[in-house]
Amino acid sequence: MGYKTVIGLEIHAELSTETKMFCSCTNAFGGEANTHCCPVCMGLPGALPVLNKKAVEYAIKAGIAFNTKINTKTRMDRKNYFYADLVKGYQISQDTIPLCGEGYTEIEIEEGTKRVNLQRIHIEEDTGKLTHTMDGDTLIDYNRAGVPLIEIVTKPDMNTPEEARLFLEKLRATLKYIEVSDVKMEEGSLRCDVNINVVDTETGLKTNITEIKNLNSFRGAVKAMEYEEKRHIDTLKQGQNTLKETRRWDEVKGETISMREKGDTADYRFAADGDLAAIEIPEEWVNEIRNSMPELPHHKKERFVKEYALSEYDAGVLTASKALAMFFEDTVKLLDDPKLVSNWVMGDVLRRLKDDDVEIEDTKLSPKDLSQLIALVKSEKINNNTGKKVLKEIFDTGKDPETIVKEKGLIQISDESQVREIVEKVLEDNKQSIEDYKSGKDRALGFLVGQVMKISRGKANPQLANKMILDIIKEKY
Ligand code: ZN
Ligand code: MN
Repeated sequence: MGYKTVIGLEIHAELSTETKMFCSCTNAFGGEANTHCCPVCMGLPGALPVLNKKAVEYAIKAGIAFNTKINTKTRMDRKNYFYADLVKGYQISQDTIPLCGEGYTEIEIEEGTKRVNLQRIHIEEDTGKLTHTMDGDTLIDYNRAGVPLIEIVTKPDMNTPEEARLFLEKLRATLKYIEVSDVKMEEGSLRCDVNINVVDTETGLKTNITEIKNLNSFRGAVKAMEYEEKRHIDTLKQGQNTLKETRRWDEVKGETISMREKGDTADYRFAADGDLAAIEIPEEWVNEIRNSMPELPHHKKERFVKEYALSEYDAGVLTASKALAMFFEDTVKLLDDPKLVSNWVMGDVLRRLKDDDVEIEDTKLSPKDLSQLIALVKSEKINNNTGKKVLKEIFDTGKDPETIVKEKGLIQISDESQVREIVEKVLEDNKQSIEDYKSGKDRALGFLVGQVMKISRGKANPQLANKMILDIIKEKY
């Protein structure tokens, strides 16, 4: 028996405009509660909203990046519902005519490239923020009310939590590339809802769709999807069906918890917002935006493969973040050896970023440092292992590699007579290893080189030591 998982995503991304969607209040994150507010974003009677052109431009940029059809005639609608974080009693959103219609993006899965289709991208305003205190009170901060959002809705095209994760990564990288959102999940500027169900591929039986609301980390989203995938399959196996409901992810318990059962779709009484004129987007403006678009991740990747002769995989990793791609290119400008630079970045640099959970731009390592470091290794002034230690030191202290090498006396010993001296001593002290080597145990040679490195405190040129050990064994033993 087989099961197919079906996943669709809805993502809200806050746009990084200067001001809010319909007023001139600042769009800065945080601030003292209820200080970034005016009659418009508070929904006071008589206050009139004015559409933020920059927000529309940013949404169009996103629409272009995701290959959507831009609707040149559109409008804002009122979505009516009551909640304490929504002062007006309605959210200004878009109903039947979103700014951006159907589109797609591609993700790289094991089997190859997979297309994920988008249903739409529309613009809307964010709501205020509720904080529930330990005393059971609820505090309301309207600083977020009226912050411009795009809502990106995918088709149910993802079939594993991993595919959904890849899509989210792609989405985040793209929005960051085109500089329309700072995509900081911890500040809530990217929030994700998941729709998930499973199909029994033999009987065709389907579970009812579960909606998981307000996931604020990719890790949480993936775990929640994995949990739901299993819960849906188990339910089908028991000959039952899941409820059509909204659940939330409890990070501490590691499970999803039912919030409410979904009856028929809520009737929001959508209607055109009479305070805002219909929106007409001139074709020329869209073209202007299209022409000003920065290079997108997949184009950059193709260029990296061509220009730097990197593998598809390496180019993909290097261009996954705009900052990392820039870092790589800036380093190559200083040290014209793309393959070598890529090896360092893909290896020790990325490992360190992962360990510290930081982006390259938040570290003390500069392209100049890395190019100097690689040059030192390339010219055999230091060996590879010392290079790794120096890199660690740069990350820790921000000193430049030449200073570190000088201060710590790490210059590689390539002087033949100096290395010979150490090698002779090592051979003298390890006669058994020489015998082992001669009787065909290649590992003994590695041991001897290791001893030379140990005595020289890592500074001997290992290739030279290796060669010299073989020469002297031949000569003397
Ligand atoms: Zn305002
Ligand atoms: Mn929405």
